[in-house]
Amino acid sequence: MSNANPYALLFEPVQIGPVTARNRFYQVPHCTGLGHVRPRADAAVRGMKAEGGWAVVSNQETEIHPTSDLSPYAEGRLWDGRDVPALRLMTDAVHAHGALAAIQLVHNGNHAQNLLTRAPVLAPSEMSVDTTHPKQAQAMDKADIREFRRWHREAALRAKDAGFDIIYVYAGHNMTLAQHFMLPHMNQRSDEYGGSLENRVRLTRELLEDTHEAVGDSCAVALRFAIDEMVGADGMQASEEGRAVVELLADLPDLWDVNVADWSNDSATTRFQPEDGYQNAFLSHVKQITRKPVVGVGRLTSPDMMLSMVKKGIVDLIGAARPSIADPFIPKKIEDGRIDEIRECIGCNICVSSDNLGIPIRCTQNPTMGEEWRRGWHPEIIAPKKSNADTLVIGGGPAGLECATQLARRGYQVTLAEASAELGGRVAKESKLPGLAAWSRVVDYRLNDLKQRGNVQLFTDSRLDVDQVAELGVEHVFVATGSHWRTDGISRSTQRHMPQIEQTAKVLTPDDIMNGLLPPDGPVMIYDDDHIYLAGVIAEKLATAGYQVVFVTPESLVSTYAVNTLEQPRIQARLIELGIDIRCNQVLTAVEGDIARIGCAFTGRVTDIPCASTILVTERHRETALYDSLRGIGLKTLELIGDAASPGLIVDAVFAGHRAARDFERPKAEADKDWFRREIIDLEET
Ligand code: ADP
Ligand code: SF4
Repeated sequence: MSNANPYALLFEPVQIGPVTARNRFYQVPHCTGLGHVRPRADAAVRGMKAEGGWAVVSNQETEIHPTSDLSPYAEGRLWDGRDVPALRLMTDAVHAHGALAAIQLVHNGNHAQNLLTRAPVLAPSEMSVDTTHPKQAQAMDKADIREFRRWHREAALRAKDAGFDIIYVYAGHNMTLAQHFMLPHMNQRSDEYGGSLENRVRLTRELLEDTHEAVGDSCAVALRFAIDEMVGADGMQASEEGRAVVELLADLPDLWDVNVADWSNDSATTRFQPEDGYQNAFLSHVKQITRKPVVGVGRLTSPDMMLSMVKKGIVDLIGAARPSIADPFIPKKIEDGRIDEIRECIGCNICVSSDNLGIPIRCTQNPTMGEEWRRGWHPEIIAPKKSNADTLVIGGGPAGLECATQLARRGYQVTLAEASAELGGRVAKESKLPGLAAWSRVVDYRLNDLKQRGNVQLFTDSRLDVDQVAELGVEHVFVATGSHWRTDGISRSTQRHMPQIEQTAKVLTPDDIMNGLLPPDGPVMIYDDDHIYLAGVIAEKLATAGYQVVFVTPESLVSTYAVNTLEQPRIQARLIELGIDIRCNQVLTAVEGDIARIGCAFTGRVTDIPCASTILVTERHRETALYDSLRGIGLKTLELIGDAASPGLIVDAVFAGHRAARDFERPKAEADKDWFRREIIDLEET
C-alpha cells in the first residue's frame, strides 16, 4: 500500500514467535454459535474475515477434553483426532486468504457443566459449578493437574495438525481453569499451586512451557489473560496482581492478548460503556513489561483510535471481535481509504445473545454474518440486477433502509418513501433514548451509502396511500411500514385474562414517549412484558426527569431477555440506583382512574398501585393497512417486510430487508427449494 495512506502504520507486519502477521489487524477469539456443531458455517465466517484483510483470525474457545464439555453451547471442540478435519476447514479457509489461524484451547473448569459427557467437574478447590445447575466441582489433586497438562499438550499437537499457526493458553473471562487457579477466591490450595501469586500462576506457566515445547518450533504460543476482574479490591486488578502476573510471565508467551473479565465487562455494550477503546486504561502498562507483541480490544472501529493506540505504545496489534463481526472488511476498507464505508458495530450484543441462546451468530449491522456458508451471502458482494425493473420501498426504518440499500447496490432504480420527516424509523427514535445513541449507526451507514448512489431517490414527509403508489407506476413494491405499540394491555402474560383498562385512564406507549410526549405529573407505572431494553430505558428517562416510577414485570428479573446480551444485572442495578420501585412477578389486571391493579404471577394476590399514568410496553400492532390495499392493484412484486410482517428486534428487521433484496427476481423455485444449506449428520459415518 502507498505510504500516503495515513494509516500505513496499521499495515506493518508483526512478528509473533515463529510466524508473521501481515498487518496489525487481529480478530481475537469470539464465539459464533456455530463451532463444532456447524463447522462449515464457522469456517466460512472465519474465511470471510481473512478475505476482509485481518492478518490473524482466531476461532473460539475450543474444549480440549470431555471434562470441559460446554454442551449445549456450540463452541469449538478438540477432544481427539476425530475433531481435526472440522477445524481444518477453518484453517484452510483462513490460509486461502493469506491470514494466520489461531485456536483458543480451553479447559473451562467449573464453568463447564459436562451435561453431555456427565464427567466430573474440575476446579482448583471444592466449589459449585458457576451456573445455577445443582452440581459441584471436585478439587484437582496433583494427578489431575498432570493429566490436565497432558490433555492440553496433546490438544496443542492436534491443533498444529489441524493447521493452526497460533495456539492459545487461555486464562480469561473467569471461565477457564488456568485463570481459576490464579484467583484467590477460587483457589484455596495449600500446595505449590496455591497461596502466593507465584504458586497460583504456576499452572499457566507450565501450560505455556508445555505448549512451547510441543508446538513452539512452528506455532506461536499466545496467552489470553484477564488482567482485571473489574470488581476493585475484591478481585484481580490491572495495577496490582494483574501487573504482577505480566511481570512473572513477561516474555514466556509469544503474544499477550490482554482484556478484562468477566465477559460482560470485556464485551460491554454501548448502553453501559459508550466509549470505544474503553479497555486502554487496563492495557497501557503491559507493553512496558514484556518485549512480546500485545493485542488489545475495546470495540475498536475508528482507524484514528487504532492508530493512536499503536503510536502511544499501548498495543502492537488491533484486536477486534464485535467490530469484525459488524464489518469483516474493516482492514481492507482502511487500506483502500474507504473509511466512511466501515459498518460500525453499535455495541448491542445481539451477536453475544446468539451464543448464549446456542444459535448461529447474527448481527444487527451485518445481516450476512453467519449466513456466509448456508445462504452464500457475502457482506460486500451481492448479485447484480436481473432486469431494469424499478422498485419502490415504503417505509424508511431499518427494514426499508436495508432493503433499499441492497436493491440499489444490485443496480436497480430505487425509490424510498418515508412518511415522517426523518429517515430511520424506530432506530431514529430509539437512539434518542438514554444510552442508545450509538444505535443511530444503523441508519447512518445505510444513508451514507444510499445518498451516494445515482439510482436512488429518497423522499421524506411522504406518507403513501394506495392511489399514490398506483400513480407512481412502479410494479415492484416492498412495504416496510413497521408497527406501533398496543394500548389495550394485551401481551404474552395477559392473553388469558385481558386487563380491564378504563377509557378515561391515562395510558401511554413507548411510541408516545419516543414522540416526545411526557406523562402527566405524578407517579408513573411502566408495565414491561417485552423484556429487553425499551421499558428499562424509558424508566431511566422518566426517573432522570424526576418522575416517581414503578416498574412492573411478570418476570422475576427486570429486562430478563437482556441476560443474553450480558446487560441484565447492569439494567437492574441502574433502575435500583435511580430509586425506581421494582415489582417483579406481577401481571397487570386493570387500570382504573389513578390506580393500576397488578396480581402476583403465582398466587394472583392483588396489589393496587396509585399512578397518574401507565406506560404499556407489551406488544405491537403491525402496520399492514397499506399492504392490504395494495394487494388489489396487480403489482408484480408486493412484499411485506420487517416489523410490519413480524415485529421483532432491529436485527430481525435489517435481516428481513436484506433477504428481500437478495431474493428479488430470484426464481421462486430456487428460493423455495430449501431455506438454506444444512450441516446434516452423515449416518454412514461411525
Ligand atoms: P422496521 O423495523 O420494519 O423497519 P419501523 O417502524 O422502524 O419498521 O419503520 C417503519 C417506517 O415506515 C416508519 O418510519 C414509518 O414512518 C414509515 N411508514 C409507515 N407507513 C408509511 C406509509 N404509508 N408511507 C411511507 N412510510 C410509512
Ligand atoms: Fe456489534 Fe451488535 Fe453486531 Fe454484535 S450484533 S457486532 S454488538 S452491531
